[in-house]
Amino acid sequence: MNCKKTALISDFDGTISKKDFFHMVIETFLSESALKPWHDYLQKKITHIEALTGIFSQIHIPQEELDKFIATIEVDEYFYDTLEICKKLGVPVYLCSAGTKYYIEKRIGQTLKDYNISLISNDGVYSQKDGLRLIAPDKTNPFYNHNTGISKELLVKKLKSEGYFTIYAGDGIPDFSSAKTADAVFAKDVLLELCRKEGIKTEKFDNFKDISDYIGRLYDK
Ligand SMILES: [Mg+2]
Repeated sequence: MNCKKTALISDFDGTISKKDFFHMVIETFLSESALKPWHDYLQKKITHIEALTGIFSQIHIPQEELDKFIATIEVDEYFYDTLEICKKLGVPVYLCSAGTKYYIEKRIGQTLKDYNISLISNDGVYSQKDGLRLIAPDKTNPFYNHNTGISKELLVKKLKSEGYFTIYAGDGIPDFSSAKTADAVFAKDVLLELCRKEGIKTEKFDNFKDISDYIGRLYDK
């Protein structure tokens, strides 16, 4: 095995899940015009957390309906195998999302408990009147970030300072700073393009089987 202890840090939307939850919401309950906050974010007019709240606050369905919809979030079918391998090898897993714990815990909360995964994300509250609102952690939180609520990069830095070889998996803009910091990067979509542009080495990443295989190779399993 490699000489260092290893930690796996993963994004949720579009990485563990197959599609960003805000895209699912827009396609099912809203219209394309609901994407305006996202375009404002891309033009740097508002923060990432303001953009997501701007989209999610347009949902006005009964909570039971939203919960049923959250249960339909598709998860990478190899994700659970990766968790099993990490558990066997004693590799800690961190799920770090600039979305919200609200739908992550409802979708895979039991898995997070079963595998002792640390979830670092924004809180969320839902009401039919106000929609789903993201709540950033307190500014004193060690992972606080003004733009995304939580900083994935600060988590990767902390793990590196503790001597971990850090493996990062992600797909979007909020993953870029952590991808620059991590020791090994699994990137898809926008993150893959950003990494290519900046000359950051990435590993093949079609699904979590690639991550399982990589970790297996590190430990000669
Ligand atoms: Mg993502």
